[in-house]
Amino acid sequence: MDHKGTVWTKEELLSVYNMPLLDLIYKAANVHRENHDPNEVQVSSLISIKTGGCPEDCGYCPQAARYHTDIDVHKLMQVEDVVSVARKAKEAGASRLCMGAAWREVRDNKDFDKVVEMVKEVNNLEMEVCCTLGMLNENQAKRLAEAGLFAYNHNLDTSEKNYSNIISTRTYNDRLSTINNVRKAGVTVCSGGIIGMGETTEDRIEMLLTLSSLDPQPESVPINALVAVEGTPLEKQQPVPIWDMVRMIATTRIVIPKTVVRLSAGRTAMSKEGQALCFMAGANSIFAGDKLLTTPNPSFDDDMELFNILGLKPREAFKDQKKAVKELVKNF
Ligand code: SF4
Repeated sequence: MDHKGTVWTKEELLSVYNMPLLDLIYKAANVHRENHDPNEVQVSSLISIKTGGCPEDCGYCPQAARYHTDIDVHKLMQVEDVVSVARKAKEAGASRLCMGAAWREVRDNKDFDKVVEMVKEVNNLEMEVCCTLGMLNENQAKRLAEAGLFAYNHNLDTSEKNYSNIISTRTYNDRLSTINNVRKAGVTVCSGGIIGMGETTEDRIEMLLTLSSLDPQPESVPINALVAVEGTPLEKQQPVPIWDMVRMIATTRIVIPKTVVRLSAGRTAMSKEGQALCFMAGANSIFAGDKLLTTPNPSFDDDMELFNILGLKPREAFKDQKKAVKELVKNF
């Protein structure tokens, strides 16, 4: 269902996804223009505040302790170091900072107190603050909300049917219940997925149907192309064709018109022209900075060059975060 109450069936959405590509882009571009400034793209920065050693088994993730990858494992960063990274990201044009910790779930301990402090401090910089910390209960979501958290990221990754092929240490329902806890705390929801993990087109569509049927729909939907990392179970996956990314972004834009569609992991493998097509199809956010948690990403300078070529401008952060969250939720 989209925000106007249109209920999509799987078949309808499949036929949207499979339209002639230029028709699909045209349709998505119209929806984009009806709901957003098409020349505005939000620049976000994603930092790994605690890296590696995760007990989960997500097949795409180099941070799972059970896989042998060459990431730099580090414990939780200091609050002042996070604030200094946030400040630099803001100076470079980022209006949103996402902090990721490789945890299965949040525990009520000193590390969580520190993360709450980070949220407060980054919020004081007038940036939208997002966290991705694993599973979360209602109380923990409330604490983050009180500290000024703007968004919580918790990706569905793929369809419910395909989920156990990618992750066995938690269920789809666990995912949905964390999203529900975030909602109840009045924090906006960021939830999307990854393509190129061996899923079918139906899996992609089913994931989009689940996301679009959340009420309200997620205010942010990251669409990632798998970065196949050596040492993970998905290391041999072939890169996803750019055309699939464009189709996925366009279909997301059509079914969740008001959301911010984030063109996320996998951008280093995309040409400037490919990324331009993604923006045309409705992507209106990128993650900038040379690392996306642990995988490579284009630098801020490369992105600003692309913005200049395309005449895009970075979106400013909302000044009053709490008010902005309330209004966003109300209008979805
Ligand atoms: S994706 Fe997150 S939960 Fe899964 S293994 Fe990586 S860090 Fe852990």
